[in-house]
Amino acid sequence: MSFHRGPASYGNPGGRDMGFRNGNSRGGGSQPGGSLRKPRWDMERLPPFQKDFYRENEITQSRSSADVDLFLQNNEITLSGRGVPKPILTFQEIELPPDVVVVIQEQKYQAPTCIQAQGWPIALSGRDLVGIAQTGSGKTLAFILPAIIHIQNQPRLQRGDGPIALVLAPTRELAQQIQTVADTFGRPAGVRNTCVFGGAPKGPQLRDLERGVEICIATPGRLIDFLEAGKTDLRRCTYLVLDEADRMLDMGFEPQIRKIIEQIRPDRQVLMWSATWPKEVKSLAEDFLKDYIQINIGALQLSANHRILQIIDVCSESEKDSKLINLLEEIMNEKENKTIVFAETKRKVDEITRRMRRDGWPAMCIHGDKAQQERDWVLHEFRSGKSPILVATDVAARGLDVDDVKFVINYDYPNCSEDYVHRIGRTARSNKTGTAYTFFTSNNAKQAQELIDVLQEAKQVVNPKLYELADSAKGFGNSKRRWGGPPSRNGGGAFRNGGGNGYANGRAKW
Ligand code: AMP
Repeated sequence: MSFHRGPASYGNPGGRDMGFRNGNSRGGGSQPGGSLRKPRWDMERLPPFQKDFYRENEITQSRSSADVDLFLQNNEITLSGRGVPKPILTFQEIELPPDVVVVIQEQKYQAPTCIQAQGWPIALSGRDLVGIAQTGSGKTLAFILPAIIHIQNQPRLQRGDGPIALVLAPTRELAQQIQTVADTFGRPAGVRNTCVFGGAPKGPQLRDLERGVEICIATPGRLIDFLEAGKTDLRRCTYLVLDEADRMLDMGFEPQIRKIIEQIRPDRQVLMWSATWPKEVKSLAEDFLKDYIQINIGALQLSANHRILQIIDVCSESEKDSKLINLLEEIMNEKENKTIVFAETKRKVDEITRRMRRDGWPAMCIHGDKAQQERDWVLHEFRSGKSPILVATDVAARGLDVDDVKFVINYDYPNCSEDYVHRIGRTARSNKTGTAYTFFTSNNAKQAQELIDVLQEAKQVVNPKLYELADSAKGFGNSKRRWGGPPSRNGGGAFRNGGGNGYANGRAKW
């Protein structure tokens, strides 16, 4: 593998055609990206590019298939696809740019995480990849490191060239977190990046793009704006990452994503990451990835991080406030007390935060209506621990990587169990542990069964009241319990660790 940049053969003074024709006429209607036409790709004329940089190391080569199987089994890694390379278990087993090795040492990373161990050989071979991985699994570096190597092996950017690697992410928070990793590992290796997202001034983002960046991390809407306005293009793009694909589809970004991918040459390398594998995500993969290898890390069913203690409090809507206060009183006595409280709507988030602050709690909030500057500031205060309570909508549920969040409180149960798993995944990052408290009311009964499945998979004790609600949602009524245990005594506040902490019995301050 060579880390010297190739010749500047993309210098294209005779025009920007390069086998790419795009009648990029304006006025395509109100559809996102309506004015972007799908280019007619002339594969004969597209300059070739290199995407396979992987040579299996001797140590990897000599690893027996029994050892490989054991590693995969122990780490709950399942694979599908043709010609999957063996995992690498140490950093020494892949040839890394020296600048990146220094950063890995600085970060004190001991070994690749599972997704890196299996993902890097695949990504560095130039193969398309689908990764279904838990939050906090190290997946950002799983795609940023191969991006750096890919970029270093391409001809240098010329004036006016767009990015070589494009990372699409659902939210600005996630995009900015990816940027942090791209900064940490890419900058020392001379790989520039920018982060392009809505709700912030366009000027600085445009300046970065004009100056030239090898990696562009973007939320789909803002990128479409720039593409439509001709401020950047994806002609040089050969490495595409879709991060949190399921979340992007949930948020309705599918038309934008499809428009964007159409703008990228068909022989690109694509890495798609998702926490779940619903049919919509699968069909996106079928449409845009070729001969891909799929890695699942963790159990194949929807699963939560097993290092999280999950406590479900079946209660009524009116009990939530007092329960929240009592819970926070306990948590704030802990040495490590960073907590995220999730509520359903922006209005509720504002209300809860206002009341908490009035009563002197160090709480701040974040949701989609907040200006970018304020969101950045709130996140900074939360990260630094100055304000250890963050109240949030689902905008903060996925991808947010604050590594010392100890507690997650679901004041409202989310719309689906995937979101539940993501929310609670804000705690127990890296190899830490955490606790998630969830208020669950009869209004959430339809979701009870799926929640039970998640709890059982993670070997958590299931609150008997949840079984009742699941039964009632199935139309069995409440009268017959299918479980044998006694009903809980504290009005349903049957947290796994009992009512002994006083949490279920406290009185409301508001
Ligand atoms: P991610 O899943 O990308 O959000 O990463 C979760 C956390 O894992 C981040 O805080 C990373 O800094 C950390 N991380 C990434 N790779 C490694 C590694 N090989 N060893 C230890 N920690 C890592």
